[in-house]
Amino acid sequence: MTKQLVDDRLAQIFEHIDSNRDSFISRLIDYVRHPSISAHDIGIREVADMLVGMLGKLGMEAEAVETEGHPMVVARRGDRKDVPTVMLYGHYDVQPPEPLEAWVSPPFEPTIRDGRIYARGVGDNKGQHFAQLLAIESWLTVHGDLPCNIIVLLEGEEEIGSPHIAEFARKHRDRLKADLVITADGPLHISGRPIVTFGVRGIVSFDLKAKTADRDTHSGNYGGVMPNAIWKLVHLLGTMKNDAGAITIDGLHDDIIAPSNVDRARAADLPLDLPEFMNELGLSELDAPKDRPFYDRLMFHPTLTINGLHGGYGGPGTKTVLPAEAIAKCDMRLVDGMDPEDVFAKVEAHVRHHAPDVEFIRHGSMLPSKTAIDTPYADAIVQGLTAAHGVEPLLYPALGASGPDYVHTKILGIPAFFVPYANADEANHAPNENLTIDCFINGIRSGAAMLAKLGALGKAG
Ligand SMILES: [Zn+2]
Repeated sequence: MTKQLVDDRLAQIFEHIDSNRDSFISRLIDYVRHPSISAHDIGIREVADMLVGMLGKLGMEAEAVETEGHPMVVARRGDRKDVPTVMLYGHYDVQPPEPLEAWVSPPFEPTIRDGRIYARGVGDNKGQHFAQLLAIESWLTVHGDLPCNIIVLLEGEEEIGSPHIAEFARKHRDRLKADLVITADGPLHISGRPIVTFGVRGIVSFDLKAKTADRDTHSGNYGGVMPNAIWKLVHLLGTMKNDAGAITIDGLHDDIIAPSNVDRARAADLPLDLPEFMNELGLSELDAPKDRPFYDRLMFHPTLTINGLHGGYGGPGTKTVLPAEAIAKCDMRLVDGMDPEDVFAKVEAHVRHHAPDVEFIRHGSMLPSKTAIDTPYADAIVQGLTAAHGVEPLLYPALGASGPDYVHTKILGIPAFFVPYANADEANHAPNENLTIDCFINGIRSGAAMLAKLGALGKAG
């Protein structure tokens, strides 16, 4: 199919979306009226069943598949060999709406004010995956077929930390066999420009616990005789990161996969108002090391953060106490190539070496995830977003934060793209969550356009 024909077919879909604007808005309002609060197990089954119904109407084989927790809604349509199979991931659960008194209109009575729909879950994530479904529907209505094979995967536990998705992906690998996954979640850039994100940092969390005696003592009567638990932790922590900002845990950097030149270039292209950023936080300097580009810090380097250091006395006035116990709570963000189990082992070995009597306590972890920024499907996604928004997307090699993206890239082994549709001030997880109507409509356009460009590309590799 020529580029002209692809663009003509897409233009017809854009027209269809424009002329159905009001009905799409009212259908979204009907959808977000139904609560589906995973943390409180409210409405989950009803909304899962409702989605199975909606997906069935799109000619998809749809099912709510049981897990140990809330069901996963999975649907599929198409088995052409010459076009990619695109998995569209989203989540149908929402955050609890409390505090209710802070909402201008009730969270499950969707209301339009100033071009925005206000409702719990409208941005995170119902409005975004509903836009994907309407993109599919628009293709079918206008052209009677889809440019790609589609798998829809909608999770019911994202807002409680996705406890079963990794296991689900391992178990249903065949059913989820796709060439790429697109997640429409999160906000656009504050300027309104679309974004494509190609990865996330991983995380490990742990405690360091020191105990030097059975009880706290008098800092005069015992000072100089009894070791101090807080000093013990301070010295240990001092061996883990130096004042030039380098993490000094043996072997920690060994497996890091350096960012490609394309990654570095895209990170350097991202807009940044550093004085404004520093001013907003009241910063007089950035963290050490000094010589690192801003986005490189967030995307390409691991961190070691002391989340809290506790022990002894912190109240008013003085207390001449010599503490017997202290605890440091820490997390580390991991970059491409790092493995949480390996990092835990290296940190533990470091602790054993420098402070053998300090207890090392593991908490949760998540793998990092990375999709190559020059992977063949990326260009089609960029073209689709450009067609839908009239402006090219910003390309984020990775996010500083963590998320279960590794399920796609590491368990299913496919490239994963985060393509947010919501406005930057969507107030997700907060009262007065909202989605602008323009973002919603642009989301439908984006979904339709990405499928057009991916279908035109054909099956890569
Ligand atoms: Zn959320």
